Amino acid sequence: MMTQWETMPSLTRPRAAVVGGGICGLAAAVALTRRGWDVVVFEETPSVVVGAGITIWSNGIAVLTVLGVADGVRALANDMPRVRILQSSGRELMRQCSAPGEMLALHRRDLNAALVDGLDDGVVRPATRATVVDVRRGIVAADGREESFNLVVAADGVHSQTRLQWWPEAGGERDCGIRAWRAVVDGATDEAINVWGSSGECGILPLPGDTTYVFGASRGRAREKGLAHFDGWIEPVPAMLAAIGEPIVHDLTELAPVRSPVKGRTVLVGDAAHAMRPHLGQGAGLSLEDAVVLAQHCTSSGEFDGVGFTAARRRRWATVAWMARRATPMMMPANRFAGLPQTFASILPDRMMLSLTDRIASWRPN
Ligand SMILES: Cc1cc2nc3c(=O)[nH]c(=O)nc-3n(C[C@H](O)[C@H](O)[C@H](O)COP(=O)(O)OP(=O)(O)OC[C@H]3O[C@@H](n4cnc5c(N)ncnc54)[C@H](O)[C@@H]3O)c2cc1C
Repeated sequence: MMTQWETMPSLTRPRAAVVGGGICGLAAAVALTRRGWDVVVFEETPSVVVGAGITIWSNGIAVLTVLGVADGVRALANDMPRVRILQSSGRELMRQCSAPGEMLALHRRDLNAALVDGLDDGVVRPATRATVVDVRRGIVAADGREESFNLVVAADGVHSQTRLQWWPEAGGERDCGIRAWRAVVDGATDEAINVWGSSGECGILPLPGDTTYVFGASRGRAREKGLAHFDGWIEPVPAMLAAIGEPIVHDLTELAPVRSPVKGRTVLVGDAAHAMRPHLGQGAGLSLEDAVVLAQHCTSSGEFDGVGFTAARRRRWATVAWMARRATPMMMPANRFAGLPQTFASILPDRMMLSLTDRIASWRPN
């Protein structure tokens, strides 16, 4: 039975600065607060309550439970006990089934808002860009002044300036050759589907409030065709695409998982440490895991066991990132003829095909 952490009382609390108020930064702030730390979250954009949709697997839900925000998230999410995986022709490849409550889909802004609810007022400082000026001593510059912290949590995402400046040996962003787009559209859908086709993938997931999360990706020359690439795919793909107003569009980049995420008093977490391709829907899940494991390696008197944190996370990051990279040719083969692995997948039992993703999602916090 999962227990949730209680906020620990402390007379002189250690202080942490979190650079970046995305899912990882907010979750780390909640986790550290519950460990008895005083936390400030610097977010350069005007609001942390943003984004399209997101799916959270059972490993992420387990973290939300420990952080005490799972009920709030569940109240705003749709349970997804079954996702049908189809080819663009409509042929069913497999069914991804999970126990009730083990897979959620929701508005990303609602997830972020639930995490913010776990923090005191004033912890998050929106519209405040922060720069790590000294990793060893944990000094951060923001709002025109410099401050020293017991721990600096660099959760500044795939474009992390902290990583670029202080972890040059870890390597920078690599182009995935994939353009992704996401939108939440008005109107309900009956079922969750993920459609795999030549050079593209499209997901349609029912969200609460008669809205639907539509996401997709295309690679190679298909990128230039935009949403027109999906003309002729099985309905409701074209109908849903027609309903999209302004999608959020990104040319995807990834970051090799960093081998040594800790330098002095600074630690890289979330996408800044291991931004991966979104095929497995596990980037946020891993970021949530990072948050709770980070706090487990912090004592209420202000010590951080960086060696222990690194040992606990390094292999996990490498494994999931490797699998996410391998998923591209399976989910969006470069052409029709490269789609043989999909045909093979359709004749194998669903459980066999999905055992790897199940294994990723089976992670639980200690
Ligand atoms: C198309 C797509 C679909 C995805 N779908 C899923 C999914 O369904 N499920 C899932 O688990 N994952 C999914 N992911 C992955 C997931 O979105 C990321 O892994 C996750 O958001 C990472 O969170 P983060 O907090 O590390 O980074 P981010 O969410 O990028 O947050 C970083 C934050 O830091 C801020 N920032 C940056 N620099 C500074 C600075 N100097 N000072 C202050 N603030 C700063 C940024 O403004 C940003 O708010 C998807 C990704 C993509 C691209």
